[in-house]
Amino acid sequence: MGNMLSSKEAEDDNWKSDARYAMESGTYCIICGGPFDLEGDVYNLDPKEPRYQWVYDFRLLGHTHDVERHRATSGNNRPRNTSSVEDVFLSERASFSMSGAGIFEVVDESGTDDIWYNTLWYKPASTSSLFALHEACIETSCRALDRLRGGATPSLAMLYQFLNARFLASHAHAHPKDDTANDIFDLCRVSYSCGPRSVLAMTRLEWWGGEYDRFYANPLDIPDLEAFVFNVLVASSHEQDSGSKMVLTMQEPRGIERLPTELFDIIRTYLPPKSVIKLHRTSKTLATKVPLHNAFWRDGLHDGSLHPHIWDLDIKRIETFRQESNITFSASDWDWRSVAKLLAMKRFPVTGRDARLDDMPLGFWNRCRIWSVIEEALIHGREWPPAQRRRDSGFEVSKT
Ligand SMILES: [Zn+2]
Repeated sequence: MGNMLSSKEAEDDNWKSDARYAMESGTYCIICGGPFDLEGDVYNLDPKEPRYQWVYDFRLLGHTHDVERHRATSGNNRPRNTSSVEDVFLSERASFSMSGAGIFEVVDESGTDDIWYNTLWYKPASTSSLFALHEACIETSCRALDRLRGGATPSLAMLYQFLNARFLASHAHAHPKDDTANDIFDLCRVSYSCGPRSVLAMTRLEWWGGEYDRFYANPLDIPDLEAFVFNVLVASSHEQDSGSKMVLTMQEPRGIERLPTELFDIIRTYLPPKSVIKLHRTSKTLATKVPLHNAFWRDGLHDGSLHPHIWDLDIKRIETFRQESNITFSASDWDWRSVAKLLAMKRFPVTGRDARLDDMPLGFWNRCRIWSVIEEALIHGREWPPAQRRRDSGFEVSKT
């Protein structure tokens, strides 16, 4: 019995998924942990399904003065650079070569020939690297960086600097044979409450169970997003809009509290939602003068100012769902605050989570995961501090 267990454990220890092999060969996206090719021994997965095609859309990101050091083929032709940002190289859509580990092909300036490149290449004297990244991960990460570290630096330049700093720091501290040195976002780790951080951390049983599907869901194109939010609204309709309830105070107004309500109505139009919420929380008097009505939460979700990782919510489409349904309550009864509170979450516990999240689109789940990978690294990381963190990062409404 003991021998059987030992051999089983040894077998599990030695088992590696295709995603893990892709990581070790450098042919994976270091932001999401996913590969650029789903051919292989992935259970019950048809790589040709349209919903998986975003995985095949990727580009190379690097420094313009250093990209040639990563070249794997000789020649004087140059690659096309689609980036307009100074010093940043972003290739045309790349392809994957089966002729060698970590080899990618991009078209040259003439459009007639391909150039081969190595990515994630490191030597102790290295100061920069070249990264292959899904287009969806580039866009999601740029949006996150822009929101969390916004400033004068273009988001694509921030993304390169951020990845490069973490990559160099990870390799500088790693053993030369450490095959996880490229894992700059801890994607091989399993979170106690939320499960695997990427497909790289999944066990064989989880692969058999098909749990890879959510990691391979398109984080950009989420056609079911409005239907999901509509269902959350319906499920939340019984909750009270406590943000707009009457607050009584016996204290005399002091300082800014003496300003008329009409002036606060004007001031709040110039403030981001988080500042409005802070103003609302300052005192009981301001809670009355700066109320957080249903429209505040709805409009903040609509324009992305409340939760920047939800930048594409079509409120009109949600209203259409309501009109086409048999639901009798009016849109003014909807509890947008409760929805905003729920959607502030980006890491979802495996068990015991809110039942309203049960029908969450997999693409939305994956977008939240990728966004939080960047967000957590910005909050906790020390490798890349060129700009002061914006005070409105890590937005929360849970205490409101
Ligand atoms: Zn990716």
